[in-house]
Amino acid sequence: MKTIGLLGGMSWESTVLYYREINNHVKQALGGLHSAKCILHSFDFHEIEEYQSHGNWDKAAAALASAARNLESIGADCIVICTNTMHKLADEVQRHLRVPLLHIADLTADELLRNDVRKIALTGTRYTMEQDFYKSRLISRGIEVIVPDRDGIEFVNRVIYEELCLGIVSAESRQGFVAVIERLRDRGAEGVILGCTEIGMLIRPEDVTLPVFDTTLIHARGAAMYSVGI
Ligand code: GLU
Repeated sequence: MKTIGLLGGMSWESTVLYYREINNHVKQALGGLHSAKCILHSFDFHEIEEYQSHGNWDKAAAALASAARNLESIGADCIVICTNTMHKLADEVQRHLRVPLLHIADLTADELLRNDVRKIALTGTRYTMEQDFYKSRLISRGIEVIVPDRDGIEFVNRVIYEELCLGIVSAESRQGFVAVIERLRDRGAEGVILGCTEIGMLIRPEDVTLPVFDTTLIHARGAAMYSVGI
C-alpha cells in the first residue's frame, strides 16, 4: 500500500471527511483490519485565509510546497491538497516534488466524463468560481463550465467562509444554496460540482434535482485507489 500525504486543515472540518472516506475505501478494497497509510500536515486555516484574502499567494505556495516536501521526505508516495481553492497553487507545489500530486479537478473531470456530463455547474469559493485555475482543467477535457451570477457567487462564498469552515450548517443557507443550484440547472447545467470540500456538509444529493459531484468524496476515493493500486 502506498502512503498518502495529506495537506489539510483548510478547513479541518473537511479534512475529517477526507480521513474517514479514505479509510473506508481502503477497508472496502482490502478488507479485514486494513486501514489507510497516511500522513497529515494540518495548517492553521486562519493563516491560510489571510494569505488568500490579502493576495499573498506566493507565501501560501511556499507554505504548501514546504509542507508537501516534508511529507515526501518522511515517506508520502503522493500528495493530496484537501481543498479545491488551494489547487490554484498545485503546479507550483508539484514543481517541488518527485511524487505525484493528485489533482482534485482532474479526478473530478474523470468522474464527469464517466457520467457523460458535458455542461456542469461549479460551486465553490469565489477564487474557484471566478478564476481560471480550476475551470481550465475541466474545459481542457471538453466540459463546459457555468458558475452562479454575481449575487450567487457572493452568497456561496460567504456561506463557505462564515459558516461551513466554522462547522455551521444552517437550514436557511441550504435553502439559499439549493436556489443557486436550481438557477444553474435552468441555465442548462447537467450536474453540479460541490467544488469546495465543505459543501457536502450542507448539500446532500437528495436536496437538489441535479446529479451532485462532491469533490471531497471524489478526491478521497481517488487517493485511496491510488494507494491500494486500483
Ligand atoms: N475547503 C474549501 C475549498 O475546497 C475552501 C477553503 C479554502 O479556501 O481552502 O475550496
